[in-house]
Amino acid sequence: MTEFNKEIQKLKLALTSDCVLRCTHCFIDKSAGLTLRFEDAVRAIDLFLGSPGDYKRLELYGGEPFLRFDLLKRIVSFARRANRKARKRLFITVATSGVPLDEAKLAWLRENRVGLAVSFSGGRVTHDFSRVFPDGRGTHAVVGGKSALAVRHLRVGSLVALFCVHPRRAGRVYEDFKEVLAAGFFVVDVECVHGHGWDRESVRLFREGFDKVLRLVDRSIRAGRFVFLENFIEMLVCTSRDKFGCPFYRDFEMYPDGVYSLYPFGFVNGAADAARVRIGGGVKGLDKRFRSCSYPSPACAGCTRGYYVLERLRDGHAPYAYRNGRAEIFFKGVLEKVADDRRYSAYVREIRAMRESAYVF
Ligand code: SF4
Repeated sequence: MTEFNKEIQKLKLALTSDCVLRCTHCFIDKSAGLTLRFEDAVRAIDLFLGSPGDYKRLELYGGEPFLRFDLLKRIVSFARRANRKARKRLFITVATSGVPLDEAKLAWLRENRVGLAVSFSGGRVTHDFSRVFPDGRGTHAVVGGKSALAVRHLRVGSLVALFCVHPRRAGRVYEDFKEVLAAGFFVVDVECVHGHGWDRESVRLFREGFDKVLRLVDRSIRAGRFVFLENFIEMLVCTSRDKFGCPFYRDFEMYPDGVYSLYPFGFVNGAADAARVRIGGGVKGLDKRFRSCSYPSPACAGCTRGYYVLERLRDGHAPYAYRNGRAEIFFKGVLEKVADDRRYSAYVREIRAMRESAYVF
C-alpha cells in the first residue's frame, strides 16, 4: 500500500463515460467511449487507503456505472481486499440514474454492503425537465418504479436519493423534496447542478426552498418519522472542518481515462479544458506539486487559486455553499438538543447507526 501524506476522506471513480440517458444538465461526452482501466482504479484506491484517516468513502459513478457492472464488482472486491490490510472504516457507494436497476443488482449491493444513490428529482415535471432518454422522453415513470424497487430491497441507511437541483426548477425545491420522500426515500442528498446559469433569483428561490426543507426535517424529528439529509452522516464522519481547506480531503476524483482531477472538474469539455484541470494520473502519479505538500502549510492558502478556472462550472457554488452552511447550522442545533429532548437524541442515534452500518472494516 502506497503511503500518502494527505488525508483523502472521499474518492470518486468515474467508471465510464457511457450512459443510458442524455440528461440536459450533464457535461459528459457520451460518445467518448471511455472505460476506467481496472489497473488505474487500483492505483487510485491504493493512494486513497494509504492516506491518513479512519473513515473512507469510495463513490463509484459514471456515466452509468451499471453499464460496467463487472468492472464495478471487481473494483469493490479489490477495495474490500485492500482494506483488510489498511483496516479503515470503508463505505462504498454507487451513484446511478436508476434505469438499469433490477432485483439481481440490488441483491448484489445488499450482499456486498454497497450503498446506492439514485438520481431522482421528485416531481415529474422537474425530473423530466433534465433527466431524459436519448430520444428525449422523460424518465420519471421508469426511475420512480426503479426507486420503489430499491426501497423494497435496501436498508434505509444504504439508499439515498440524489436530488440534483437545476436553477430553472429552483422555485420547486420544497415541493420536489416532498415528492422524493413520497417515492419512499428517507435519506436525501440535495445537490446543485453546475454550469447552468444560477442567477440571483434562482439562488434566492433555492435558499427559500431549502430553508423550508430544513423545517420539514425538523418537523419529522418531532413527529418521530425521521427524514435525513445525507450531509448529516458526513458531519458525523468529517468532524474536523479544518481539513476541508485541502481539496484532497473530499474533492479527489479519477476520470475514466485514468487521470486525476478535483470536483467538480471530473468531466470537462474538450482537451483544452481538460489540460487545465488534470492533476496527474494513475500511471504517472500525482503532479509533482501535490506529492509532498502538507496541510496546513503556508502553500495551502493559494493552493487552488489557479485551479478553479472554468467559470461556467463555478455558478453552482452559491447555492451549494448555502446548502452546506444551513445544513451545518441546523445539525449543530440538533446536536445541542440531544441532552434535553429524547426525540432529537433518537434522531442522532439513528444517524450514528447508519454511519456504523455503512462504514465497515
Ligand atoms: S498545498 Fe493544497 S493540496 Fe497541498 S496540502 Fe495544502 S491545501 Fe492540500
